[in-house]
Amino acid sequence: MMAESAAMPVRATKRGSERTPLSGERDVLICGASFAGLAIARELAGSGADVLIVDRYEIGERQTSACGIPTEWLERLGLMEAECQRFDTLVMHTPHGTSRYRLPWTFSTFDYRELCQLLWRDCDATFETAKVNGRAAPANGDGEIAVETDRGTITAPLVVDALGWRRVLANGDGYQPPDAPLSRGLEVHPGGESEDLAIWIDRKYVPAGYGWSFPAHDELRIGVGSFDPRFHVKDTTVELTHDLGKEPNEYQGNWIPHELRRATEGGVFFAGDSAGHCLPLSAEGIRTALYFGMGLGQELRGVVEGRQTRAQAESNYASFHDSHEWKFKWMLRVQKLVPRVPPRILAPLIRLLGNKRFVDWSFTHYLRIAPPEYAGSRWATRSADDEDRPGQQQDDAEDALGRERDLVQAEQA
Ligand SMILES: Cc1cc2nc3c(=O)[nH]c(=O)nc-3n(C[C@H](O)[C@H](O)[C@H](O)COP(=O)(O)OP(=O)(O)OC[C@H]3O[C@@H](n4cnc5c(N)ncnc54)[C@H](O)[C@@H]3O)c2cc1C
Repeated sequence: MMAESAAMPVRATKRGSERTPLSGERDVLICGASFAGLAIARELAGSGADVLIVDRYEIGERQTSACGIPTEWLERLGLMEAECQRFDTLVMHTPHGTSRYRLPWTFSTFDYRELCQLLWRDCDATFETAKVNGRAAPANGDGEIAVETDRGTITAPLVVDALGWRRVLANGDGYQPPDAPLSRGLEVHPGGESEDLAIWIDRKYVPAGYGWSFPAHDELRIGVGSFDPRFHVKDTTVELTHDLGKEPNEYQGNWIPHELRRATEGGVFFAGDSAGHCLPLSAEGIRTALYFGMGLGQELRGVVEGRQTRAQAESNYASFHDSHEWKFKWMLRVQKLVPRVPPRILAPLIRLLGNKRFVDWSFTHYLRIAPPEYAGSRWATRSADDEDRPGQQQDDAEDALGRERDLVQAEQA
């Protein structure tokens, strides 16, 4: 009865007297324990650093998406136990017809709680539930950054904002919907089964954006995303759900950034949605959060192991981030173009673009924006013994990983 257990949010977050004061100094403070934050903490495992990760909810408590990702990312990261369902075809519905794209790689849905637990299993950080309010008084010249939470102020020389689109630790460049480059997404999770990973490009549901149904074993994740933050997606999410013969339940929505933001600012590092790492057009932000999170984790590891300074880590990470900018800009151009295509041309166009050569070419390039090879193979090949020794994989495979990453980074540049 997976759908039912997923349907019942477990309130694990600390309340009342459990919320003891939290303060002191750490080597690394990671704010946000979802995809980006956990990927960073995992890269730091075994480094000997005192790493604290905080989130307002317990790890895995609040699902933040439809949880779809290219399967190879799950494989490479040793996260296959969290996989729910796998697809080799994308079904595209328009008002004038349906096309089936046979993908050159497979896509999987996964269980959020399970995936977060698997990532956390490999970390040796400390975790605390706390709400991050922002930066505390400016650093006093010793390089420490102070972060204010509802349980006290924590300081660290290395601080990461992996808190999502709000970018809580930025120096006042936080932007507010609906005037910001944000899309909005909402979904529901009725029970049911389907073989089709499907999207709807249909103005009946959203003038600029798409609807989706991502099956995940015994539930369907049905939702609507609008590139225009002013368009409210609740009514049409309900409409699409009814059109699929289901009753909406468990609403879950959020703003989704569709423009890159600065990777570092005021000494703080940003990864995942806080850095705008969600891809425009597809609104796919999980693998990119993992990808940039891993890249940042390696840079921070270099600092805590004394191989580089914080300033060098800032510079390297910013260059890595910037080297992807043109690809994000291209995706944004297409995002802006699609709603302008007249509906009657859309169906034949989608059919035309569905020829195998074009699908292989475009989807292969799309995957290469954050390629699975970047993760190397160390997590996928870990042995049972390694599970008791977080960070062992880094020691064993760092050279091989370095070579693979050099190749990927050269390609991005
Ligand atoms: C409806 C919907 C469906 C989506 N489906 C997909 C999909 O199928 N595939 C895909 O790739 N992408 C999808 N996305 C996009 C994806 O969810 C994000 O890009 C991704 O979650 C970004 O990961 P992150 O770790 O940066 O941030 P998040 O996953 O948003 O995590 C941020 C974390 O910070 C915590 N937090 C926030 N504020 C505070 C605070 N003040 N104090 C303490 N903790 C805080 C939150 O509790 C959370 O754990 C979807 C988005 C939406 C809205």
